[in-house]
Amino acid sequence: MEKPKVEKDHVDYASEMDILVPHEHRFSVLNRSFGSLVGAGLPLFSIGGGILRWVLYQILTDFHVQRGYRVAMTPAVASTELYKVSGHYDFYRENMYVFNIDEHEFAIKPMNCPFHVLIFANLLQKYRENVPLPYKIFELGTVHRYELSGALYGLMRVRGFTQDDAHIFTPSDYLHETVMATFQEMKEIYTKLFQLPFSEENIYLRLSMGDPEKIGEEFIGTKEEWENAEEALRGVAQEIKESEGMKYYEEKGEAAFYGPKIDVVMKFGEDEWQVGTIQFDFNLPRRFKLVDLVKEVGAAEDLYMVHRAYLGSIERFLGVYLEARKGRLPFVLNPVQVAVVAIRTGKEEVDRTIDNAVLLLREMLVGEGIRAVVVPADRTSLARKVRKFETTVRPSIQVYVGEKDLEKGEVPVKYYVLGEGHREKKIAFSSPEEIFHGVMEIIRELEAPVEELTGKKYRLYEDLQYMV
Ligand SMILES: [Zn+2]
Repeated sequence: MEKPKVEKDHVDYASEMDILVPHEHRFSVLNRSFGSLVGAGLPLFSIGGGILRWVLYQILTDFHVQRGYRVAMTPAVASTELYKVSGHYDFYRENMYVFNIDEHEFAIKPMNCPFHVLIFANLLQKYRENVPLPYKIFELGTVHRYELSGALYGLMRVRGFTQDDAHIFTPSDYLHETVMATFQEMKEIYTKLFQLPFSEENIYLRLSMGDPEKIGEEFIGTKEEWENAEEALRGVAQEIKESEGMKYYEEKGEAAFYGPKIDVVMKFGEDEWQVGTIQFDFNLPRRFKLVDLVKEVGAAEDLYMVHRAYLGSIERFLGVYLEARKGRLPFVLNPVQVAVVAIRTGKEEVDRTIDNAVLLLREMLVGEGIRAVVVPADRTSLARKVRKFETTVRPSIQVYVGEKDLEKGEVPVKYYVLGEGHREKKIAFSSPEEIFHGVMEIIRELEAPVEELTGKKYRLYEDLQYMV
């Protein structure tokens, strides 16, 4: 009987590209699975994943700083006193990891928000009305939340993950522009960094609103706060509908008890994923008495707090992306960026020339911070070897150097354009440096969308030759 053809999932892709150490893989000499040592729901990223995340964090940090966010890095563990004030201890306790040390109770951070509130409160006390509002605090914050073990799956459902999290503290005068700016930022991240289409065909907005009848009871806050926040959300959704054609759906009574929100929902093939979220919070500013503090120091007359994340859980986003793109990553995030294939002939003299050209090309690319590897092959192994490398490690660019190519003074190059597929090109040359310049031209083309985000190039070289 023929085995049913099972499509690869994101764990397969991530494993092949050395992004992840899959939990189910065996640690042979200990005769145990890696997962049994790490713990369920806690993904262990490998070296390719480390590269990917480090570059992604640099891009996201630069992106936010350039758009007026301030960067925070907050502790992984806190006294439960913090979560008693924030309310998480009462309402979210079953999802928190709580433990005792020296008769004090602590919790592993389930959310970054309370820390950002503390930072903002301290700034207000110190710098009073000089604190510029809206004040935006950004953090790539790692949080841990208990999920039922049956629900855990790869990178999609985990117990520890990192959010591209930010909190915005703003007076009511800036609500509309704050929400609009966040939407535009989200769009930039999706279209330029991840090269995902952001159009009416694949994006819609879901507005979760309160119920005017139940404000003050089920929904915390005043009528005025809910009206102002909902008007800002609806106004932005309407503007987006007019300018970009994206539909929005309003769901009355679907808001969280603490405030209304916009979720951005993306369709990937058959699936729908909530990707970004912009959420008002009338609860935390009350619990931490931020409105009193803002008034007391003369910074503003009122204060709204917004939580927002564009990718949400970076782990989950990566899982969704790898499956939707079948293991293809943006050039800057791809662990192995360039494969230089040396097609040997068995003729000593010729092979020496080929090896020299290939090694020189790799060296020059490495000198630019490009993660390039050499794939040695001969005519008989070429197809199999290249195919295997192309379908597992998935370099963004492949350069082929063989006897005929050197004679002709022209090497074929194959490179992957997201959302389009492979493109082919020939680079003519009279010296090896010209091959290098031709490859760099393609690299600049692939880097260009990301460069538009921040004006910077992101290159982190690591020697991954052992992956060949
Ligand atoms: Zn938050």
